[in-house]
Amino acid sequence: MSRVYNFGAGPAAIPLEVLEEAQKYLVDFHGHGLSIMEASHRSKMYDDVHEEALGLIRELYKVPEDYDILFLQGGASTQFAMVPMNLSLGGKVQFCDTGSWSSKAIKEANILGLDVDVVASSKESGYDHIPDVIDFSDDADYAYITSNNTIYGTEYKNYPSTKAPLVVDASSDIFSYPMDWSKVDLLFAGAQKNAGPSGVTIVIIKKELQKRVKDNVPSMFRYTTHAEKNSLYNTPPTFGIYILSLIMKWIKNKGGIEAIQKLNEEKAALLYDAIDNSDGFYVGHAKKDSRSLMNVSFNIKDKDAALEAELVKLATENGMIGLKGHRSIGGLRASIYNAMTKEGVEALVDLMNKFAKENR
Ligand SMILES: *Cc1c(COP(=O)(O)O)cnc(C)c1O
Repeated sequence: MSRVYNFGAGPAAIPLEVLEEAQKYLVDFHGHGLSIMEASHRSKMYDDVHEEALGLIRELYKVPEDYDILFLQGGASTQFAMVPMNLSLGGKVQFCDTGSWSSKAIKEANILGLDVDVVASSKESGYDHIPDVIDFSDDADYAYITSNNTIYGTEYKNYPSTKAPLVVDASSDIFSYPMDWSKVDLLFAGAQKNAGPSGVTIVIIKKELQKRVKDNVPSMFRYTTHAEKNSLYNTPPTFGIYILSLIMKWIKNKGGIEAIQKLNEEKAALLYDAIDNSDGFYVGHAKKDSRSLMNVSFNIKDKDAALEAELVKLATENGMIGLKGHRSIGGLRASIYNAMTKEGVEALVDLMNKFAKENR
């Protein structure tokens, strides 16, 4: 077997141990005589998986009891619309615009005709940082941030304080560091970057906030529908939730989210050091104080597209894939989510150092 190091932004790497366990039980799930994929979502066999996934998220992410954990479909992009549909009270909704994903969330609130207020943006400087001053009003219906900007490689080190409910799109950094729930009222994430396969969307929402949901929101788009039925109102993405449960078990075996965070810091430091010590051969996109631990976006000096393409090709030949930067900023991007091993990052850093020496 020869597996590559997958630096792709999403769907992204899944721990090998998880894939192997899923493979082992794929055809006959723990002696039940059928695959978990084939099991009714109303069966005891599936329910155990569902409850295990929910229980492990609550335990490891330390989700307080006054929050519901939901498994939805439609990806993070559906949340761009569900959040305003459910949480708007007819007043203003406020955003910090830190890149494409925030912009898409802003677009949906505009489509719904809400009073949209962008209080801060880093657009002018190519989304290379998280704004220093983010002045959310305490009386906004809600305040909205994207905790990690997958494309630009920037990440909040602290969430802004506001008395308005804070909504966080954590699609690309969920489960990568402990969450301060005193600041967050609704957090959502498509699973396919840091939590599992595509098809599951995790929503963690304060119960209190659900009192806002108005009668004119269709059933499938109401948080309350899914909260009241424990995410079993209709058929949930059962196989994805199973893989998510295995990933949570894997995190637990690694020592929990604090231990994962430490590993993430070490991995990111290896890459940023390689960039910083390259005598300007590599240029990181994000300003230092906004650097993401999950997505490292960088260029080669003078945005030399030919050299960048050569490095991507060389990496691919050496078993490292997914390094081409997003089309909006070019260059390279190494996504180093929880599942990326330190060995993978070390292999990339070795190649980068060698390439810089040869092409300086
Ligand atoms: C990938 C991504 C999305 C979009 O997720 P989908 O599940 O494809 O809709 C939204 N926000 C962020 C931060 C992302 O990285």
